[in-house]
Amino acid sequence: MKRHLRILAALAALAAVPCVQAARPLVPLYDAAGLTKACDAGIAKARAMIAAMEAKPGPGAIFAEWNRLSIRIEDVGNPIYLLSNVDPDKAVRDAAEPCLQKFTTLNTDLFQSEKLYRRVQAAHPANAHQAKLRKDLIEGFEDSGVSLPPAKRARAKAIFDKLEELRQAFDRNIRDDPTKVVFAPAEMEGMPEAYVAAQKKDADGNYVLGLDYPQFIPFMTRAKSGAARERYYRAKLREGGEANLALLERIFELRKELAGLYGLPSFAAYALRHKMAHDPRTVEKFLGEVHDAVAGLEKSELEELREEKARDLGTPLADTKLERWDVSYYQDRIRRERFAVDEEKLRRYFPTDKAIEYTMLVAQRLYGVKFREVKVRAWHPDVRYFDVLDGRTGRFLSGFYLDLYPREGKYHHAAAFPIRGASRIARRTPLAALVTNFNREGLDSGELETMMHEFGHVMHNVLSEADYDPDAGTAVKMDFVEAPSQMFEEWARREQPLALFREVCPGCPHLTHDDIERMRAARRYGQGIRYARQWLYASFDMALSTDPRPPLAVWKKMEGATPLGYVDGTLFPAGFSHIASNYAAGYYGYMWSQVLALDMLSPFRKDMLDPKVGLRYRKAILSQGGQREEMDMVRDFLGREPSNEAFFEEITGKR
Ligand SMILES: [Zn+2]
Repeated sequence: MKRHLRILAALAALAAVPCVQAARPLVPLYDAAGLTKACDAGIAKARAMIAAMEAKPGPGAIFAEWNRLSIRIEDVGNPIYLLSNVDPDKAVRDAAEPCLQKFTTLNTDLFQSEKLYRRVQAAHPANAHQAKLRKDLIEGFEDSGVSLPPAKRARAKAIFDKLEELRQAFDRNIRDDPTKVVFAPAEMEGMPEAYVAAQKKDADGNYVLGLDYPQFIPFMTRAKSGAARERYYRAKLREGGEANLALLERIFELRKELAGLYGLPSFAAYALRHKMAHDPRTVEKFLGEVHDAVAGLEKSELEELREEKARDLGTPLADTKLERWDVSYYQDRIRRERFAVDEEKLRRYFPTDKAIEYTMLVAQRLYGVKFREVKVRAWHPDVRYFDVLDGRTGRFLSGFYLDLYPREGKYHHAAAFPIRGASRIARRTPLAALVTNFNREGLDSGELETMMHEFGHVMHNVLSEADYDPDAGTAVKMDFVEAPSQMFEEWARREQPLALFREVCPGCPHLTHDDIERMRAARRYGQGIRYARQWLYASFDMALSTDPRPPLAVWKKMEGATPLGYVDGTLFPAGFSHIASNYAAGYYGYMWSQVLALDMLSPFRKDMLDPKVGLRYRKAILSQGGQREEMDMVRDFLGREPSNEAFFEEITGKR
């Protein structure tokens, strides 16, 4: 599952210190005590700034003041959020949690300030970017309950604090889930040698696997034993445990109560009113169209997998039942047989270092920039840092980190972390980090896509030239934020750009035209199952966001109505951290963003490396951040109204 983590939801909404800064801003590093000290000092300074801002009459220079405050908060909060996910020292990660809680409280206090609300309301924007900032701030105030009567406002604040506490507990239960699954050596049949060699063994010589994706997914795809896959599947689908079901139920109850304070019928209505989709009906309608488009395809794909299983096991088709733990395994068999695509072998084509070079080469050609590696002190010796320079003038624009390989206690997924937002008026340059858990030797095609995806988020951050920090980079609406990253995945799939691998790695084996066509066909295979699942996740999220009930009961009913049904004893919602965090009433956003992502590819169709189109895209979309309405930016770039045609072709395997 690809994730893009935004700054602490709300920090994104803030911005700016007129920066007296060195040419190259970096992430500050702390020990646990130092982190707490920096956190408390940062909060105290921000509170003093807020008090000074509240003391001023009239609108004055509220936008510039807000920019300075936002930068001040971001400079302390964002690095600590990053370190809470990547610092090798557990004491530092632990110290970050109470600090992040303090930032949540600070943020609620800020956006509940009536005095600041009045100053922002009274402000007359001098230009369109100020007008957009004003609108965004007012929405932030409204979301935080500034205009509620005092008792309700206090209740809203208590709910925000509690939601952050519950989210942390939910994520901790997943991160610290000690479950291990033990497999006899014979049960490793089918697994690549390198995978087997990398696993821990117990005293009896059995393999002991945890619940992380880099261990789980390859096993579900390649392990020959259905019984072994079943055991692993059942364990993984209990991740987070019963405790998380209770937490999730409480989280959605509190969200419903929050919406009620505003007189809104549901959390979905509350959360959607400031997104592109705007209201639950629009989302339901979109999800209905997705379901109609893929339901038939899903059924026929599943039937084909069942036939494959019957052939494999030599059982009569009528007696063969396809189980959830069979899906990836038989899909992989068909992909290898029919399309002759062997993902494990692809790692030789895409050595990890070269895949990174390739990704960066594409971005440099397209966007007219240069990346220069610089040795800096980071949180771990594996971490690399790059300056981003203007390709023509060599002017310093921004920087980014790459933290690519797994290690104990590190964030388990792949994500881009914004560290500093841009602000043109404060001459502030952006900074971001890309965090993944790649195989050191090489990537398969899915991992190459993940690399491009997250790098797309990084580019959205570091090529930002927004006026004001709160509207910089990925501070766009949450149902748009995935569009630039999903779009960039396409450069992992097309023949023309992939030919650049000959430049970055002359000694590697190279994909032929036929290889790439077969890979495209293999990828198209399975879209029905993939998008039916995405539809289910999004619909489940909407169901709880509309009418909170015990999550497992709702899930049993919804998953039970799908062709493969619900597997007794599994607790999927206990591990669904998206909806415990700020993706709630927002999971549909992955597909919503993809509509625009695929549409925005159309100007690149003729030449995927055309620097003129790349530069136009950089100016129209990447550099703007959230300082313009998303639809206006997309329309400007396309020169026409957006269309969902490419998306529906994609999900039905026709593209
Ligand atoms: Zn993403």
